[in-house]
Formats: sequence, C-alpha cells, structure tokens
Amino acid sequence: MNQQNLEIVIVGGGISGLAAAYYLEKAARQQNLALHTTVLEKEAQPGGKIATQQQNGFVFEGGPESFVTRKPEAWELCHELGLQDRLVGTTQPGKNYVLHNGRPAIVPSGPGSFLSTPLLSLGGKLRLLKEPFVKPRTEASDESLGSFLRRRLGDEMVDNIVKPAIGSVYLGNVDAMSVQVSFGRFAEMEQQHGSVVKGMFALMKEKRAERKASGEARPPKKPAFATLQGGLMELVNAVAAQIEGDILLETAVSNLRHDPTNAKPYTVELHDGRSLNADMVVLATPTFVMADLLNGVVETAVTEQLRTIPYNPVTTVNVAFNRSDIADPFDGFGVVVPESETSQLLAIEGMSAKFPHRAPDDQFVLRAFVGGQKQPELADLPEAELISLVRQELAQIFGISAQPTQIHIQRWQPANPQPPVGHLAMISEIEKQLANELPQLYLTGAGLRGQGIPDCIRQSRSLVGQIMADLQPASQTLAA
Ligand SMILES: Cc1cc2nc3c(=O)[nH]c(=O)nc-3n(C[C@H](O)[C@H](O)[C@H](O)COP(=O)(O)OP(=O)(O)OC[C@H]3O[C@@H](n4cnc5c(N)ncnc54)[C@H](O)[C@@H]3O)c2cc1C
Repeated sequence: MNQQNLEIVIVGGGISGLAAAYYLEKAARQQNLALHTTVLEKEAQPGGKIATQQQNGFVFEGGPESFVTRKPEAWELCHELGLQDRLVGTTQPGKNYVLHNGRPAIVPSGPGSFLSTPLLSLGGKLRLLKEPFVKPRTEASDESLGSFLRRRLGDEMVDNIVKPAIGSVYLGNVDAMSVQVSFGRFAEMEQQHGSVVKGMFALMKEKRAERKASGEARPPKKPAFATLQGGLMELVNAVAAQIEGDILLETAVSNLRHDPTNAKPYTVELHDGRSLNADMVVLATPTFVMADLLNGVVETAVTEQLRTIPYNPVTTVNVAFNRSDIADPFDGFGVVVPESETSQLLAIEGMSAKFPHRAPDDQFVLRAFVGGQKQPELADLPEAELISLVRQELAQIFGISAQPTQIHIQRWQPANPQPPVGHLAMISEIEKQLANELPQLYLTGAGLRGQGIPDCIRQSRSLVGQIMADLQPASQTLAA
C-alpha cells in the first residue's frame, strides 16, 4: 500500500457502510486520489439488516425483502454492479390489506374501492375527499407524521388504514415519528401546492412537461418493488466484491480516540485489543452505537442527542406450507394490523404472492412480524411460543391450520430507528458539531435521513460527494 494513501475506516458493514466504501473508492479513482478503505463489521457476514438465507430451495429474508424503485438508488446500484439480469420486479400493483374485525379487508386503491371499503365510514370517506380544500399549515417546521396525516386526511383514514400500514413498515408509532424523515415529499407538496392531491397532479404535469421538452420517450416502466433472484444478500455480496480495500468481519469496534497532533489523528480500537490508525472515520452503525463510540471524544450533548433516537425490536417469522394444504392462498403483498384489532402480530407479508420465485412451486410462504413498538416483549418469546403464537394467528386470520413445511426466524433487537419530530434538524446540528470538533469524521446510515435500502444508499452516496469536496485541498497535496 502506498505510504501516502489516505486511510479511511468505515465502522459497520451494512448496506450503508458498504455503499460508503464502494462510492468512496469509485470517486477516488475518478479523481486520481490514493485512498485505502477498511470496513469493520462485528458480525460474521456483511449486510447488517439485510439477511437472506437460502434453505431447501427457499429464499428466506430475515430483514428487508425488496426495495422500492421510486427512490432509484438501489435499482441504479444493482445496474451499476451488473446485477440487472438478477433483478426480479413485482409484476402487478399488489393488493394490500388491513385486518378488520379479524379478517383481511382490502385497502382501497381507486375512487370506486374507496366508496365501497368497510374500512371507512361515510363520514371518513367524505373527510378524505376534502383533502384538496384543507388549508395548508403555515409553519415549515417538522411535525409528527400522524399530525400531518390527521390534518390532511382525517382521523379515520389514519387510524384505520395509514397508521397500521406505516406502523408496520417503520415498526413504530406514526403519532411520534417525524414527517420530514418518513414522508418529507408529502410535507413539501403541502407547502408548495397547498395540498397533497394538488401536489401529486402538479408533479405528474411537471414530469410530462420535462419529457416533452427533452423529446424523451416515456421511460420503460419500472416495477414498483424489486429484489434479486437469490435474495437481497446478492446486492450485499456484489458491493462487497467490488470493494478493493479490506472488509474485516467479526471485528467489533470498541472505542474511538482522536488526537489531532498525530499524523493519522484517529485511533479505532477493536474488541480484541488491536487498533487501526486512520485519517478519516465513517460511522455507519445504528445511532446508539455511534453514541457509544463517540462517548468522551465529542461534547456529551452530541452523544446524548444520538441516544434519544428510539429503536424497537422485531422478530420476523417466515412460515412455509404445502400449497395443496391451503384452500385459498392469500393473494396480497401484506396485511397490516391496526391497534384496535386483537391480533398480536404487527403485520403479515405474502412473500409468495409478491415474489413467487422465493419458494419451490408447490410451496407458499407467509412472513409474520412480531414485536415492534406495540408489544416489544413478544419479539423475545422463546422459539416454541413464538411459533405457536404465529400459527394460531395464521389459523385465525387465514384459516390455515396445516403443518408448516419450513420455519425461519430472525430476531432484530433492536430493529429500525423511529426518527422523532425534529429529527432532521437534530441530525444537522450533530453534524455541524462533529465538523467543528472532529474533522474528517462522518456519519451515515438508516438512523439519519431515511431507513429504506435506497435511502441508505442515497445517504452514503451523497456523503461521499461531501467527503470529496472536503478533501479537495488534501487531494491536491497528495497528488502533487
Ligand atoms: C425486519 C426488517 C424489515 C425491513 N424491510 C425493508 C424492506 O423490505 N425494504 C427496505 O428498503 N428496507 C427494509 N428495512 C430497513 C433496511 O433493511 C435497513 O434500514 C437497512 O438495511 C439498514 O442499513 P444500515 O447499513 O444503515 O444499518 P445496519 O444494516 O444496521 O448495519 C449496521 C452494521 O453495523 C454493525 N455494527 C454495529 N456495531 C458495530 C461495532 N461496534 N463495530 C463494528 N460493526 C458494528 C452491525 O453489525 C451492522 O452490520 C427493514 C428492516 C428490518 C429490520
């Protein structure tokens, strides 16, 4: 390795850390900058929350099971890595359900189905139609997602449809989480167009005009959700394979030190007593780990702020059945469970309905979510009790009492961050403080500005842009 290499240590080998290493190396090649990356990951495999297990012809996902393509970063990265032939997209818009009186009720997707849905009373339906006429909020500050949606769509729509749907994605409470982080685009539409509906029409018009002006044909339609033939670990493995630096597995970072008088100002201490010296550190862990690592290195206000970001535990349980044992296989992408229902599950996903390739043809897979903010203790149930609970629920909701052919359990303790109101302003404040106190120490990851896989990739990609800009004078010296 060249002595003049800039040593960059990235803590955390989830998609955020790996994307940071990948885009850093790519940018360095383009700018002829000598740098060496080391990704430190405490687990035995990279990927973090992305955890695919291939087992007896099944592709079981323990964490994320697909990504949205509306946010293009994951889709683009797959293409950039040559995975385009491995991508599998959803072929239909997909039916989504909400549990209603113990049975799945379809979520309305068009005006006709809104009129006939049992999920909303007549009053709830009329309130929804008022959205374009509801006065926009005058303050531009953050508010809770629940407060935003209640103002715009009414309580019934939120409690009966949106809250369970979003709560099951984020595994948290919409009345506490920040609208700017979770649905910032809708909040912007309200600010700019006075209404979400008007904002959506304006966006469609804008896109059409852009296409017309550029003479571009309508781009080929992308599927709404995509995954990879062998599961999302394929993305992790493909990014990891492109990284020229080191990826050290089973290597937990226990401490961080900063001494600006050293040639390499950062010392990254490992659990086994070894340490690495670095010019730059990128923390790509959950935010409470960032807080631990920064403890004593930066103002305590910063670590305290990082610690305020709540995380909830969740356990996913994939259950496979013989198709021949199921009279009426569930045809939806998922069923979410509102608080008003007695079911102890957070949600159930139709893994086979969404992507049939994930199971042998004669098998059918459902995935239950247990725990979350609603009943965190259930995520820790011993295996036998957990399976019994999930089977009981599947029997009640879908009438499936057949013996499962396979079960796959994945526990996340904790799982996803729940960015509270004011979160983005707090993160910006933390970053400002870090830039003052710890130059060349950066943060990325799901706990900052969005937690979907595309959000994580976007954040790491834009962080690399910022790092390259910050490095400008240094890169000129190194190249000299
Ligand atoms: C059950 C579940 C379902 C989900 N479903 C979807 C979905 O369908 N689509 C979607 O887009 N997103 C989904 N998500 C969200 C998404 O998967 C995550 O937000 C994203 O993968 C997080 O990536 P990350 O790299 O920021 O963090 P992580 O994946 O948490 O990675 C952080 C890494 O840091 C490592 N680490 C921690 N401490 C240390 C230390 N001291 N030293 C070294 N390493 C350390 C961890 O082991 C981990 O590998 C889901 C999440 C969960 C939990």
